[in-house]
Amino acid sequence: MKASFYMPTAIHFGAEGEKPFAAALQKAGRHAMIVTGKSSAKRCGALDDVIATLTGAGIAYTVFDEITENPPLLTCHRGGAIAAAEGVDFVIGIGGGSPLDAAKAIAAFAANPSIAPEEIYDDAKRANPTLPLYAIPTTAGTGSEANNFSVLTLPDGEHKKTFKAADSWFCAALVLPRYTATMPHATAVSTALDAFAHALESYLSPKSTVFSERAALFAGAEIWDVLSACPAAFDDDMRERLSAAATAAGMAISVTGTGFPHPLGYSITLLDGIPHGRACALFAGDYLTYNEKTEVGKARIEAFAAAIGAKPAVMKAFLPGIADVDLTFTEEEIAYRVELIAGAKNYPNSPYVLCKDEIYDIYRSHFLKK
Ligand code: NAP
Ligand code: FE
Repeated sequence: MKASFYMPTAIHFGAEGEKPFAAALQKAGRHAMIVTGKSSAKRCGALDDVIATLTGAGIAYTVFDEITENPPLLTCHRGGAIAAAEGVDFVIGIGGGSPLDAAKAIAAFAANPSIAPEEIYDDAKRANPTLPLYAIPTTAGTGSEANNFSVLTLPDGEHKKTFKAADSWFCAALVLPRYTATMPHATAVSTALDAFAHALESYLSPKSTVFSERAALFAGAEIWDVLSACPAAFDDDMRERLSAAATAAGMAISVTGTGFPHPLGYSITLLDGIPHGRACALFAGDYLTYNEKTEVGKARIEAFAAAIGAKPAVMKAFLPGIADVDLTFTEEEIAYRVELIAGAKNYPNSPYVLCKDEIYDIYRSHFLKK
């Protein structure tokens, strides 16, 4: 039985989590860097709450609010340099997956200010341990608060590469569903689709364990129940369930990583602006169809569907449908996108291992101009 588990992050959930999280921040250091996107951390109230906590404890802070979607490696390098120059000794990420992932990279650069941007991927170059990290997710999607992955966009703007250090886990996270209430509904749906992709892809991964499976099934069931009813808006109860599910799915992928819908989605996110969750959901049907070709995959899919109260055929139609991606490309445009994602490490991480010709087939089936 595979049942080892590592989860060094204290996850504080809901209103009862606010006090212990604030207490953890107040003991975290003398000068914080708060890493956010342009406006949502302020709009949802999380930034003001954190500033009040820090100010109350006499802790200095620097706000770095330059994190854009699909965070660029170079922005994180710059943030790290500013943090080092200002004597920051801990980092708080507030936002969706982009600011949380960026916070992990910034904390590594801040501790190692002399390294070049791409040297972050080289364990030997990062001689000093990453600064302590804290997280407040404001989307219910990536589960970044519960894993040590930091998905960064390389300087060419066309590739994503995951940075993952043994010490880039958050010390503590505050998962407060009310911070997600300011999300536009389309963003809330897309981020829920990302969390569902994590649950499904983790459950099918050959690396799954009894604990990652349970987390994946919990997440899958909650998200399916909410999304398959197609509500026009999410209420407080739904937001609470989606937030818990997203964190659980983040834990699940901390054990397993993700499968091929993730890299297949990266090129249409970076080149064509399709949000990450919708990009993953577009390829969920292909993921199910290919994995059903193997005995293990078929059995796992049936078990997952039964446990979450769905049917594989319904999932295959529903997920790409709700992704609502309408793109058409020429053969050359398809080739350009496939070559960008062909080398990703995710392909062996499911019962069916996709080859490059099959990636072409999938892209043609969705996008080829008729
Ligand atoms: P995001 O890129 O962090 O944010 C998307 C948009 O939503 C931004 O415009 C953001 O505004 C806005 N937003 C966030 N919270 C909001 C709120 N409460 N109210 C209103 N607007 C809000 O979205 P995400 O889907 O959470 O993260 C995607 C990134 O995470 C991708 O780079 C993906 O590759 C990565 N990812 C990481 C993991 C992991 O395990 N670490 C897993 C999957 C994906 P602002 O810019 O103003 O903040
Ligand atoms: Fe994802």
